[in-house]
Amino acid sequence: LEVIASVEPRVAEATRQELADQRGSLKLIASENYASPATLLTMGTWFSDKYAEGTVGHRFYAACQNVDTVESLAAEHARELFGAPYAYVQPHSGIDANLVAFWSILANRVETPTLQRLGAKNVNELTEEDWETLRHEFGNQRLLGMSLDAGGHLTHGFRPNISGKMFHQQQYGTDPETGLLDYDVVRAKAQEFRPLVLVAGYSAYPRRVNFAKMREIADEVGAVLMVDMAHFAGLVAGKVFTGDEDPIPHAQIVTTTTHKSLRGPRGGLVLAQEEFAADVDRGCPMVLGGPLSHVMAAKAVALAEARQPEFRTYAQHIADNAKSLAEGFLTRGAKLVTGGTDNHLVLLDVSGFGLTGRQAESALLDAGVVTNRNSVPGDPNGAWYTSGIRFGTPALTTRGFGHEEFDTVADLVVEVLSKTRPGTNKAGAPSKATYATEDGVADRVKDRAAEM
Ligand code: PLP
Repeated sequence: LEVIASVEPRVAEATRQELADQRGSLKLIASENYASPATLLTMGTWFSDKYAEGTVGHRFYAACQNVDTVESLAAEHARELFGAPYAYVQPHSGIDANLVAFWSILANRVETPTLQRLGAKNVNELTEEDWETLRHEFGNQRLLGMSLDAGGHLTHGFRPNISGKMFHQQQYGTDPETGLLDYDVVRAKAQEFRPLVLVAGYSAYPRRVNFAKMREIADEVGAVLMVDMAHFAGLVAGKVFTGDEDPIPHAQIVTTTTHKSLRGPRGGLVLAQEEFAADVDRGCPMVLGGPLSHVMAAKAVALAEARQPEFRTYAQHIADNAKSLAEGFLTRGAKLVTGGTDNHLVLLDVSGFGLTGRQAESALLDAGVVTNRNSVPGDPNGAWYTSGIRFGTPALTTRGFGHEEFDTVADLVVEVLSKTRPGTNKAGAPSKATYATEDGVADRVKDRAAEM
């Protein structure tokens, strides 16, 4: 920090404060974690200064021999860790990984057959008229994914996202009564819509998915099954999700972030079966430019960590702790979407406290409990105010929290929410954003959170 402070002291101070904030509060955002010092340090090296467009051994820049080493290592660790035939470690983020996956599927299932039909060996042989035909084919494809309010991600076909614009899209939700995925409904939708891509995976669904069943559905309609395991990759790596719940043997393409439950640097990763390997390998130039060489190096370090036996224990603790947190809420009378959890997250419906998600999130933050508001299925408060709070256990599990600590977390959360009332706006009308917590509660909880 001294070196940074000698150039821009305000950045040094913000960095110091960020560490104090992250350690002094309860980090319960389901998509966050604490990467290891080795992973963090690897991101701050000279690889940051190196351009390396292309792939290993086939670069558009000179002097990429060391980047080749770290990229190969990261891919090797990813293949070994997940038991996947092919791994692509260049995507800068989860969204980039999903874009690479979409375009690989389009390349494999649309571009190649179109080129064959047009009698061209590759796109360089296309005439302007052929290009128009190809663009039309690309623009005419369908994607079916989980809706945002049921727990899906923006990139799974949400209309305002690029995925909802580049594809004709439809969404599947969860059962309105149970909050659970209904595979018969997914099957019926798939049979009617006949998508090219069926996306499984989620950001806020507190249950496991049967990927074998999803693959069956995809096969029945000739779709490619793509699984976005960004949230639960750590549970797959740690063998908490096995058999039908492990996406790797079932999906043709699996994408993930590397920074959530997997506990690596911020970044993306694509795993693919052989059939799609060559297409995914064209991520650059198809979607990406120069990879973040320093982050690929950090991916290699974090993936090596995840291959250690201790990571399996860590992953099991993530799931056990989520159960403890859910039980803590349920025994204190709180309502959970799907009635519980069997992954790393818990979705609390805060309407029972008379609050919106926005009010609950702010009241908890005042008390040193860092979460994010989240829609619940069929949310009457929409995606901005919401009626839910999402809690994840990966970060505090890294800090060594166990059953007792998570029960205390549930106690602190319920104490804050049960002592918070909705407020009014300037005109005195009910507001979905303002709130008031009883005097002294936030400070008391904040002190307890800082001591944990
Ligand atoms: N996919 C899922 C399921 C996610 O939850 C997220 C991030 O929250 C992403 C993709 C996007 O990841 P990133 O923020 O790294 O682009």
